[in-house]
Amino acid sequence: MKEFELINRYFKGRGITRRDVSLGIGDDCALVTVPQNCQLAVTTDTLVSGVHFFDDISPRALGHRALAVNLSDLAAMGAEPTWVSVALTLPNINQQWIEEFTEGMHEIAEYFNVQIIGGDTTQGPLTVTICAKGTVPEGKALRRAGAKVGDWVCVTGTLGDAGLAIESRKRGLSIEPEHLKYINSRFDYPTPRVAAGQVLRGLASSAIDVSDGLMADLSHILDMSQVSASINIENIPTSDAMRSSLSFEAQLPYILGYGDDYELLFTVSEDNKSMLELKLRQYGVEATCIGQIKSGEGHIELLHHGEKFNFEQQGFEHFAKEQV
Ligand SMILES: [Mg+2]
Repeated sequence: MKEFELINRYFKGRGITRRDVSLGIGDDCALVTVPQNCQLAVTTDTLVSGVHFFDDISPRALGHRALAVNLSDLAAMGAEPTWVSVALTLPNINQQWIEEFTEGMHEIAEYFNVQIIGGDTTQGPLTVTICAKGTVPEGKALRRAGAKVGDWVCVTGTLGDAGLAIESRKRGLSIEPEHLKYINSRFDYPTPRVAAGQVLRGLASSAIDVSDGLMADLSHILDMSQVSASINIENIPTSDAMRSSLSFEAQLPYILGYGDDYELLFTVSEDNKSMLELKLRQYGVEATCIGQIKSGEGHIELLHHGEKFNFEQQGFEHFAKEQV
């Protein structure tokens, strides 16, 4: 099968058609119309086999995940996802594999009303690169900069599940089958917080998606906002699967150090906090307040029931996230 045949069969004419796309797949470029008074938000993420995912990942999960991680970056800016282009590097052409991969991608694209407007295929080690575009009202995008002293630090959903899934695959941790199923689905089929991101717009003071781990991603907000934070670690939200599988101490590397959950971490002022929580709840999203912004230069203070929690003494500073 030649490249254009592959694109024609699996991408062209598949998935949704948006009215703002005047020219989709098939020419040298796609042509789209950005709504008036909106800015275009653009992000690119690459997933490489053996680095970002296991070689034996299901193609459907890979298709889903590759798109989901890009949509998560748009969500973190409060943008509405609209169009994506896909660059696919394949070691060989296995039609069943491609069918399932594109199925996974089309499913999530359709769910979020996103049109695949272009792509490229080449031969080589399995790699998926996606460039996702979205629109956001002018000047309204959420940024990492903007957190103010006194703001609350909050996070959507639960943290650590995807990391636990990765480690259980690598090390065969003993986890109940129902919990294993749940954490595996959190890793394979992450749900980008697209609606929540748009709810945060105008209410949150800063935001980021948790892709590298709470500590790392919070540091990005603190650095860009030139503030510090104190975090109450007992308040960090965890799933039943996490709590049933590990002791509190054993959970910490996952909830503090691992990413891949694609939840949103944000800061909000006292004035906007209740309105934001109410609006998020209307969208079925739980947000948990885990700490507060303090003055300082990018320092994170961890507290456990009000007592200083010494991260270093616990040895977690050596816990480096290995790639899968
Ligand atoms: Mg991000």
